Amino acid sequence: MSVKAPRGVNDILPPDSFKWQYIRRKAEEIFELYNYEEIILPIFEHTELFQRGIGETTDIVEKEMYTFEDKGGRSITLRPEGTASVMRAYLEHKIYGQSQPTKYFYFGPMFRYERPQAGRFRQFYQIGVEVLGVDNPAVDVEVILVGFQILDTLGLKDCKLYINSVGCPECRSAYREALKDYFKPHLEKLCSDCQRRFERNPMRMLDCKNEDCKRHMEKAPVILDYLCEDCASDFDKVKSYLDLVQIPYEVDPGLVRGLDYYTKTAFEVKYSKLGAQDTLFAGGRYDGLGEEIGGKRVPGIGFAMGMERLILALKYQNVELPINRNIDLFITTIGSKAEKEAFKYLNQLRRAGLKAAMDYMGRSVKGQMKMADRLNARYSIILGDEELDKGSATIRNMETGEQDEVKLSNLVEEMKKRVK
Ligand SMILES: [Zn+2]
Ligand SMILES: [Zn+2]
Repeated sequence: MSVKAPRGVNDILPPDSFKWQYIRRKAEEIFELYNYEEIILPIFEHTELFQRGIGETTDIVEKEMYTFEDKGGRSITLRPEGTASVMRAYLEHKIYGQSQPTKYFYFGPMFRYERPQAGRFRQFYQIGVEVLGVDNPAVDVEVILVGFQILDTLGLKDCKLYINSVGCPECRSAYREALKDYFKPHLEKLCSDCQRRFERNPMRMLDCKNEDCKRHMEKAPVILDYLCEDCASDFDKVKSYLDLVQIPYEVDPGLVRGLDYYTKTAFEVKYSKLGAQDTLFAGGRYDGLGEEIGGKRVPGIGFAMGMERLILALKYQNVELPINRNIDLFITTIGSKAEKEAFKYLNQLRRAGLKAAMDYMGRSVKGQMKMADRLNARYSIILGDEELDKGSATIRNMETGEQDEVKLSNLVEEMKKRVK
């Protein structure tokens, strides 16, 4: 019998894990350029945080959370996203008392009980950013630019930006009435989820995944026609800043986030070749979230980028990430005394900052040479019992095949010179 990983959960093995590492490092470089700082969040939170911070009527909270009671009888949930935790931490540690804005990034796994398919898993990995304490629409565009620069740096092209404004609670009340008027005559033909949402939150009907429902959504009134002056002006600013930095976009009135604390800017960046799961990163403003989870009003905007989707998109576009796993040198040994001595030099070479390896499998000299090749070693140090007696080693340049002898007392310094 063998135990396997649960459905929807993945092991990220080399060489794939090299890609993950590479992407994380590149993203960190870009966060540094934009002056974002890392926040390391807990993997689980009180269930209540997500019920309030994501919304009781959402699919995530209704159907997809990994919730359990811990041994102390508390209801705990594995985080299905990062934003609610970031806001919780910001309020809990009174970060708003410091100079604003606060610009965070985070990495890590999220958990949702969904049907696994291409690019969608039950444990998935997100790269996220959140900017808190500022409501300037320029920041909305900065956040979008951070995401785009990550995609650009990785060499991912043809990604398209869709934007919308979801307004604020004031302008949305008129919109909600308009939606109800529109849906009322069709209500019987809609799914049971939509019928429930009609009473509780008609905006949530707009992102119903049911095909029959979708047909009724096409002619539904759009929020952009109901924006108040403040929301309309901020949306114009977002568009003008996007023009300023020449980021093409399409206004998509269907892009809605139907909860009260989502406000104004909503956006998605898609890569069309991915099919149904085509969103690479998505986000928006959530100026009401702080209050929703029991704190104060805190303007905030952010996005989350899916690592698995990103990797899939890179594959579709045939992007080869420049991952270098070559080593500097490999120590080939002949004889048992040399094998033991080699271990000592291996340690010294690594301590000196060189990427070095030797064989632990008792391979023949020929086998060791093959291994040096496989590891793309630049140099091979050949150490035999005979050489040991003379106090020297043979250095072979693996690329040119040239060989020469070096004094063992001088080995580390000599190799440092050659490798750098
Ligand atoms: Zn408004
Ligand atoms: Zn529906």
